[in-house]
Parts: sequence; structure tokens; C-alpha cells
Amino acid sequence: MAQGLIDGYQRQVDYLRLSVTDRCNLRCTYCMPAGGFRYLPHEAILRYEELLRLVRITTGLGIHKVRVTGGEPFVRKGIVSFLERLCAVSGVDDVSVTTNGVLLQSMAKDLWHAGIRRINVSLDTLQPRKYAAITGLDAFDAVWRGLSAALDHGFSPVKINVVAMKGINDDEIETMAQLTLAYPFHVRFIELMPFQPDAYEERYLASDLVVEKIEALGPLIPCPSGNGNGPARYYQFPGAPGKIGLISPMSHHFCPTCNRLRITAEGSLRTCLFADRDVDLRHPLRHGASDADIARLICEAIETKPEKHRLNEGSVPHRKCLSRPMTSIGG
Ligand code: SAM
Ligand code: SF4
Repeated sequence: MAQGLIDGYQRQVDYLRLSVTDRCNLRCTYCMPAGGFRYLPHEAILRYEELLRLVRITTGLGIHKVRVTGGEPFVRKGIVSFLERLCAVSGVDDVSVTTNGVLLQSMAKDLWHAGIRRINVSLDTLQPRKYAAITGLDAFDAVWRGLSAALDHGFSPVKINVVAMKGINDDEIETMAQLTLAYPFHVRFIELMPFQPDAYEERYLASDLVVEKIEALGPLIPCPSGNGNGPARYYQFPGAPGKIGLISPMSHHFCPTCNRLRITAEGSLRTCLFADRDVDLRHPLRHGASDADIARLICEAIETKPEKHRLNEGSVPHRKCLSRPMTSIGG
């Protein structure tokens, strides 16, 4: 298909977020339900062969960029050889991974050999005790060593995803932004999305307030958009090796330029992170559907990709929380 996948609002969909597991070695308060989360049974999770088949079908439809996510992708057995096979799929130009970084240090070398060059690591604080309180695991040092290993092996860019939260890490915005003065990290502040209802309205911190705090340190230079920036707006301190990114799903709609498709670990296709309109691909995959049948299902789903999410309509306390935890959709 020469022109690729175009949705009903003339957006070109060329980017796949592929979740390989719903399991995780952390329990981030904003992601996992407080009352626990029932993992999918193993047989419900797509096998690597099935995931690769879906990727081959989507590349045939014009999707050339794949981000592997979860849950925590590195807890799935055999992930490195899967990534190697994914990088080798004809038509896949770019494979990246989003991880919490806990297991990154020991895997960085193998990931590099598998063909991965770009990595996103989630880290909301530079304070080990706070890290344990947010994630449920005393693993700050492990993540920091993972980040260092990623830089040492030459991954570029190494992005740090920080969920900005009032009363939790808003006292560290400046310190985290200043990491970009010492390291080539892209430190990206993400607005909290309402996946968990606990104190959402008290914790939500708009990106504009994050920028204000950082600008108080000195002038910021806006970086040109494009070149795989996705929904982030980027800035730099003059002369800094790193960049500062703002991802504002709540305060600045990036829906008009959304180019994404998601496939969950159990093979549900989601055209919008926030719309509970999954299309089941696992059943057809396992019951004799041809590649053309599955491609047709994907194309039909793209045609009905929602124009935008409506989470930021109404006052903050009235924002509806989403029915599925982020870890089960694949962030
Ligand atoms: N486990 C990996 C990790 O933490 O990077 C990958 C999956 S995680 C669901 C992907 C991203 O979603 C992380 O950067 C995480 O911070 C973000 N995330 C999870 N829940 C969120 C929420 N309620 N609001 C904003 N971002 C969230
Ligand atoms: Fe796990 Fe990532 Fe969710 Fe944290 S944000 S609980 S690391 S899936």
C-alpha cells in the first residue's frame, strides 16, 4: 500500500507500540491498581511468533517504526532474541524499547548486539527512598546503573520519562532538568494521566507549570520539532548535551498529529490509548485467518480511529479514570 495507513481524519499511522507482556517487576502508584492486578494467563499472551507475524503484516501496511513496551518488557523470557528478530523484519526501520530500567544494566550489551539503538527509561525521582515509595521496589541504584550502561554502550538518545506529580516529585523538576547539563539524556516530563483515581486531581501538574519552574533556572532554547520527537516539545539549556521534553496529553492535545497504533500483550488492537474500543486480533490469528484477513481488520480499525480523547473536557476533578490500567494496555 504505497500511501500507507490513513485514518478518517487524514492522519498517517506509521508507528506501532507493541506490548509484549502485562507483567511488571514494579508497582508504580499511577500505573498499577492499588488493589492489585490480575495478570493474563500465559496462554492468553501472544507468542513471539504471533507478535512477529503481526509486525510483518503492519509493515506491509506502512508501519515502519515499532516501540516495544509492556508491562515491563525485560521481565519476559527470551526478550533479547525476540528484539533481534524484530529488528531483522524487512520494512522495520526503527525499533526502540520503553523500560523501567531495573534490569537494564545486565542487558544493555545484549540489547545493543540485538540491534537496539534507542531506549526510554522511566524514572520519576533521583531520591532512592522516594523511588521505592513510588514504585514499591528499592531499585533506584539499579536504574541509575542501567542508565549509565546505556550511555556507555552508545545508545542514543537515552530518554528518561518522568511523570510529573504535584506533591510527589514537583520539588525535583529543576534537578531532573539539570541532568541534561551533565549528560546527553532527553529528560521528558509527562503529564499524569488518569489511569488510577487515587488523588488524581491533587497530583496532576500541567506541563506549562513544569516549564515555568525550569525557565526560572535560565533561558531555554526551543528545539525544532520533527525527527521522531513524537508528541514531545523539546527545549535545551544553552550548550547542554541533553534536551528537556514536555509531553502534555492532558493540557495540549496532540491528537491531531497522532500516528500511533497499539497492540496489547493479548493481541488487542487499540487505535487510541484512551478509547476502550479494542479489536481482537488473537482469535483470528489462532483460528486460521490469513495475513490479508488480519490486514483488513487493522485497516477497518484505523478508519475508525477516534479524532481525539475527551479526558480534558470538564474540570480536573471530573476527569474520568480509564477502565484498564496502563500496564495492561502498554504505555
Ligand atoms: N514498564 C515500562 C516503563 O515503566 O517504562 C513500560 C511500560 S509503562 C506503562 C510506559 C510509560 O507509561 C512509562 O513511562 C510510565 O511512566 C508511563 N505511565 C504509566 N502510567 C501513567 C500515567 N497514569 N500517567 C502518565 N504516564 C504513565
Ligand atoms: Fe510497571 Fe512501567 Fe507501570 Fe511502573 S509504569 S508499574 S514500571 S508498567
